[in-house]
Amino acid sequence: MLTQIDHIGVAVRDLDKAITFYRDVLGLQFLEKEEVASQKVRVAKFDLNGVHIEFLEPTSKDSPIAKFIEKKGEGIHHIAYRTDDVADEIESLKRKNVKLINEHPVEGSGNTKIAFVHPKSSMVLTELVQKGE
Ligand code: ZN
Repeated sequence: MLTQIDHIGVAVRDLDKAITFYRDVLGLQFLEKEEVASQKVRVAKFDLNGVHIEFLEPTSKDSPIAKFIEKKGEGIHHIAYRTDDVADEIESLKRKNVKLINEHPVEGSGNTKIAFVHPKSSMVLTELVQKGE
């Protein structure tokens, strides 16, 4: 069962420009900046009442985020929903013939288990997130 929106991922060309706008102009709470080498991105995380907004800047031309920006421009890249059991969610979606990117849970950042649903099924790239204990 999905319980809430965990975070929204936004693809940007310039992370510092995004931080300046969302922290200083909109006044969102800035949490941290981190580099995720496996995805070739730098990430800036903000919090609004438990929902995170994550800005993703590519660190290389062959990053999936670089390819996304090239095709579609800057903007919403994915929406992540919180679940208490990502493996169970995957099985349930498979039974409904949903196209998945991850057929099994993979390790996400910050001790989470995640899986992506293919945008062919969900229109926008969709991530399922289970928090670690
Ligand atoms: Zn995400």
